[in-house]
Amino acid sequence: MSSQREVPIDLHAEEFRKIGYSLVDSIADLLNSMETRPVTPGESPRHLQELLGNAPLPENGSNVEDLVQKSIDLMIDHSLFNGHPKFLGYITSSPAPLGILADLLAAGVNPNVGGHILSPIATEIEKQTIRWLAEFIGVSPDYGGILVSGGNMANLTAFVAGRTAKAGKESKKTGLSQKDNPLIVYCSKATHTWIDKAADLFGMGTNAIRWIATDDSNRIDLDILEETIKKDLSAGGHPIMVIGTAGDVSTGVVDDLKGIGAICEKYDLWFHVDGAYGIPAATVPELKHQFVGIEKADSIAMDPHKWLYSPLEAGCTLVKDPKHLLDTYSSHPEYYKFDTGLDGFAQNYYEYGFQNSRGFRALKVWMVLQQVGRIGYENMIREDVKLAQLLYDLADQHPELEAISHHLSITTFRYVAADLDPDKLSDEDLNDLNKALLNKLQNTGEVFVSNAVVQGKYSLRACIVNFRTSEQDIREIIEIIVRNGRELST
Ligand SMILES: *Cc1c(COP(=O)(O)O)cnc(C)c1O
Repeated sequence: MSSQREVPIDLHAEEFRKIGYSLVDSIADLLNSMETRPVTPGESPRHLQELLGNAPLPENGSNVEDLVQKSIDLMIDHSLFNGHPKFLGYITSSPAPLGILADLLAAGVNPNVGGHILSPIATEIEKQTIRWLAEFIGVSPDYGGILVSGGNMANLTAFVAGRTAKAGKESKKTGLSQKDNPLIVYCSKATHTWIDKAADLFGMGTNAIRWIATDDSNRIDLDILEETIKKDLSAGGHPIMVIGTAGDVSTGVVDDLKGIGAICEKYDLWFHVDGAYGIPAATVPELKHQFVGIEKADSIAMDPHKWLYSPLEAGCTLVKDPKHLLDTYSSHPEYYKFDTGLDGFAQNYYEYGFQNSRGFRALKVWMVLQQVGRIGYENMIREDVKLAQLLYDLADQHPELEAISHHLSITTFRYVAADLDPDKLSDEDLNDLNKALLNKLQNTGEVFVSNAVVQGKYSLRACIVNFRTSEQDIREIIEIIVRNGRELST
């Protein structure tokens, strides 16, 4: 059915079908040919600006078929593909093909998952997804939560809930400037930058963050943590929260969550875990011990668009007692007649987070969880970790490479150019060499890795959250990196 009005935006059913089929054909071809393409064309921003041209906004519409073809060509010829088997940069995964179709279905029906009455089945699917995600990582399925755009938003959403819980609900009215004691939060130096945004945006200021030193294993130092809390208490401060990281973004190290949980219990602090990258590994039996203590967390951030291979965007906030989300985000304006529904069981997601109108992110996560099953994920995650170990071992054995770290599916290493006199190469020289090497690799499209600074060493960093990467890719990546390193150092 299409509208009775003659409007330039509608597509008649036959047109929609034809264009839609050909779009799906193009995406299928892309997925099928991805490994034969460069990871990235490495084109300059200026080149791309010229390609688009600087025509003004069109006054009149244009032919849809041409427009779709032009868009397909632009996207396929000028994109970086994080679904490429040799894309191991940052923490961006290959998108699950079924997730691509799920997003199409979600947009097709277009439920607004802010209110139950606007999204009856979608709301229930999101609730089920959240329960399954809690089960997946091994915490109580009674955790509640909400899907958000990604890890940053998942952390921010939890952060404010923790703040409301520990600073008191009255601070929602009075604001923080009325408080006698400054609120203080604790996290390790390896914590992701979201914490700066959170402390700043929510009115505490970044001085409210205590960056606790890490120990030799790069985990938060629990003795220093406790000493710092005590010192702040005796100086009249108001500690509210400790953030543990379950898989730090640089090297994949998991904090001692049990230890942090015990300190939070002792000092009545909110215990938040940032598991945006690493927490899915808790579903793998031989890795589970690294995450012991997670079940005590008041809130957890996870990120299905990382290690659950969901297409962007999908993050998730889990909260042990979801009433804290309602305490923080719920309000009842007179223009919403959203209530608890016919049987009293309706949940309105606008009361659980920042967003009002909300898209149906849960569908792709929910569908792919069922396509793969928990065991399917367990096996894929285990294989990613094994490939990261293989990369570490191959780098360790190679005379021109130095293996630096391996945790979960992140490996860091650097090129050290064995044929050059190692006595003449300072750490600074090696840092410069590896910076230049990274630049070269990121622009030539054979392989895409990112960087980390580990023990003062500028390193190449591979994070394998990629179900397409094979053992052969890892072996080829070693060769590519050594060849490029040689070209730079001779
Ligand atoms: C990736 C990541 C984030 C940010 O997540 P986005 O999805 O990029 O917003 C936060 N914390 C950690 C530990 C991460 O790995």
